[in-house]
Amino acid sequence: MSTLSSNPPMLDESKLSPMMVQWYACKKMAPDAVLFFRMGDFYEAFYEDAHLLAKELDLTLTKRQDIPMSGVPFHTSEGYIDKLVAKGFRVAVAEQMEDPKQTKGLVKREIVRVVTPGTVINSTLLSDKTNNFFAALTKAGQVYGLAFLDLTTGECWVSEFTQERDLLNELYRLHPAEFLTSEKFKEKQASLFEDMRQTYSFLVNTQEEWHFEHQSAYDFLVQHFRVHSLDGFGLNGMVAAINAAGALLRYLQDALCLSIQHIQDIRSYSTSHFMVLDRMTQRNLELTHSLQDGSRRNTLLGVIDQTVTPMGARLMHHWVKQPLLHLTEIQQRQLGIQSFLDQCHVLEYFQEKLIHVKDLERLMMKVSAGYATPRDLVALHLSFQPINAIKSLLAPLSAEWVQRQVEKLNPLPEMNHRIAQALVDEPPLRLGEGKTFRDGYHQELDDLREISRDSKAWMARYQTQIREDTGIKTLKVGFNKMFGYFIEVSRGQADKMPDTFIRRQTLVNAERYITPELKDYESKVLTAEERIEAIESELFHQLRSDIVQYTKTVLEVAQALARLDCLSALAETARKYHYNCPTVDNSLTLRIEEGRHPVIETACRREKFIPNDTYLDDQQDRLLLITGPNMAGKSTYLRQVALIVILAQIGSFVPAKQAHIGIVDKVFTRIGASDDLSRGQSTFMVEMTETANILNNVTSRSLVILDEIGRGTSTYDGISIAWSVAEYLLTTEQRMAKTLFATHYWELTKLEEKVPGAVNYNVAVHEAEDHITFLRKIVKGGTDKSYGIHVGRLAGLPASVLQRAKEILEHLEENSNRKSAFEPAKIKRPSPQKLKVPQTDFQLSLFEN
Ligand code: ADP
Ligand code: MG
Repeated sequence: MSTLSSNPPMLDESKLSPMMVQWYACKKMAPDAVLFFRMGDFYEAFYEDAHLLAKELDLTLTKRQDIPMSGVPFHTSEGYIDKLVAKGFRVAVAEQMEDPKQTKGLVKREIVRVVTPGTVINSTLLSDKTNNFFAALTKAGQVYGLAFLDLTTGECWVSEFTQERDLLNELYRLHPAEFLTSEKFKEKQASLFEDMRQTYSFLVNTQEEWHFEHQSAYDFLVQHFRVHSLDGFGLNGMVAAINAAGALLRYLQDALCLSIQHIQDIRSYSTSHFMVLDRMTQRNLELTHSLQDGSRRNTLLGVIDQTVTPMGARLMHHWVKQPLLHLTEIQQRQLGIQSFLDQCHVLEYFQEKLIHVKDLERLMMKVSAGYATPRDLVALHLSFQPINAIKSLLAPLSAEWVQRQVEKLNPLPEMNHRIAQALVDEPPLRLGEGKTFRDGYHQELDDLREISRDSKAWMARYQTQIREDTGIKTLKVGFNKMFGYFIEVSRGQADKMPDTFIRRQTLVNAERYITPELKDYESKVLTAEERIEAIESELFHQLRSDIVQYTKTVLEVAQALARLDCLSALAETARKYHYNCPTVDNSLTLRIEEGRHPVIETACRREKFIPNDTYLDDQQDRLLLITGPNMAGKSTYLRQVALIVILAQIGSFVPAKQAHIGIVDKVFTRIGASDDLSRGQSTFMVEMTETANILNNVTSRSLVILDEIGRGTSTYDGISIAWSVAEYLLTTEQRMAKTLFATHYWELTKLEEKVPGAVNYNVAVHEAEDHITFLRKIVKGGTDKSYGIHVGRLAGLPASVLQRAKEILEHLEENSNRKSAFEPAKIKRPSPQKLKVPQTDFQLSLFEN
């Protein structure tokens, strides 16, 4: 085993006890990990590890021969390990490799696994609705290689990138819990990791450069997959990707001691098959995580994920973040959804049946990695029970793609027969904790069980017999764990016991004896129990490795079910929320009739959601400039259009009466500083960087959402930037993206006259005296004033403040043609008792925004 990296504590080995020398050797193998060192029924930690455990897990710190020590009981260790891993630590587990009872001297101990955030397999840390990825990164020439895998499902993927930005977008989509790279890469690409750390935390591990060298990576993969060449996996020529994948698998096997036998497939993909959703867009549109608390509540995924199985939920997560670009694939999904809707009762029954299907991918991975318990096998078996019913249920569905999935639903009768015949219906949680195999499955096991079951009857018979022999009516035959079988008589009767009885124990009022006959029987019973355990364990390991042969088929069934689950979920969403099938084609048109925001319309609200239309094309309607007061609904409208496009390209139906969507290659969003709650200062720089990114990467097929750009600077600065950005998008060849531009700068509405392609819209408000009501309707035409003061009133600003603001506004409007619009001296002063304002600050704050 190679080491994780450097620096275990510096100790003088000559002064250590033999046990601590052993501990030290283990520690050096995994110096970056907290070492759980098995000693009898405990895992012990020493030195700094002990301090760490005491601090992080609130355990008592003790000392053993002056060495700081703390420990956790072996049988509750998983919970503690989970906690440490959740806090971002690695945990190395050193086990006793020999039976202490059978060993003289020091028991051999070795590290058997290292648990890290990216490699947890069987723990409460895992959400069954998301993948847990471990990713490796490297660079060959100008190409970035990315490999990532989910140990719990066995999926392993590779891809390549030439642009760091594209790589970042993809990493943001995947959210790997842990990375592997070379020291050199980590140093050179420090900014990449820094950038990522702004969004979430993860571990980075490094290995020496040679792990990423092509020949060694290639050889490792070829050997692992037992193939002559990697071309069969579609990896032909993908040098960087192969280097990453080889290093990753080697690391898991050699450095983390993990079994990777169950990783039997590696797949390459290109992000160019999917709509580009850059990081800010994934984030701003709240596709899978809400900006508020990071949960999936109030996200697009939260609304449309009506899946039933964990595999379905994980696939839906990928679907949402990977909208499609190919018409045929989109239409395939649409037809699938429609076929479910055509047979509504099928939809309902199908979802009911699916409830019984457990996490087939993770169960199967446990089987092939050797972690599966008897209960897991039973769960696997039960998950296949509904398969035949599902097949006949879905038979009438017309969509070809659905039928192709149905064909893959192999009910695996042989595998299920094997499990059902062998295991009891409700086996114990762990092997050896109760009856696991059925009666009649194994002759010797049956015989042994007979012996062990019969012991009570035997004891009764024996008791009667020796009562007769000795004439002691109160004599008892008993059993306890410490002494085994014994014969007990009261003190007073002890004299009457025959010489052949051997006295073993004296209690306060009684004497206990054994006889050779009793001991014989005892060893038979105890051996029987030991044998039962040994046989069950052997049978179980046999059964489990027999089941491994079905891995490929089980995973195929799992994937087909996941797809069907997702389709039926989208059908269910469409049914529940009244979505309609959009027309998707390769045109450059975007027409939405009565569109709604999929998330806001379902959130519990007082207000009924008002639908709105949208029209964009590549001619006269390329940039919609949307003005209107704060709180009118501009941001909602912008996001709604983006989400409808994304839904359409996921293949889903959409929250609109009708929609015609020409395929969009990329969606960009830029949300202005003041709307972007979670970011702090220096937002203007961030805003400009993101705007630059958009302008440099849009195409005429893209959709751009600009929500209040230019807000982070002074008004005229802001207006100028906003204006020229809009102009650029309207007039630059190959960059004429469809754009929705929301702004409260009504000055921008002049664009419509000056540049063809810009169209003004505004969010209608009803104005009565000093009062406005939001109508939430997007209508043609621009506004020529802002309503900040009205909104201030709605928000409950004191009347005096509102009055004063009105005065200032009037003054500004009067002077708006003059260069220096604001001259405090000329504003009518408020009467002093109403308001005291220092004049100098006043000017600043008004213009700053
Ligand atoms: P703006 O960006 O113009 O300041 P927002 O889009 O943030 O306004 O919307 C303000 C509030 O109005 C939101 O909380 C939203 O719930 C509500 N809203 C927006 N659009 C609609 C609509 N079409 N129907 C009903 N409520 C809406
Ligand atoms: Mg807004």
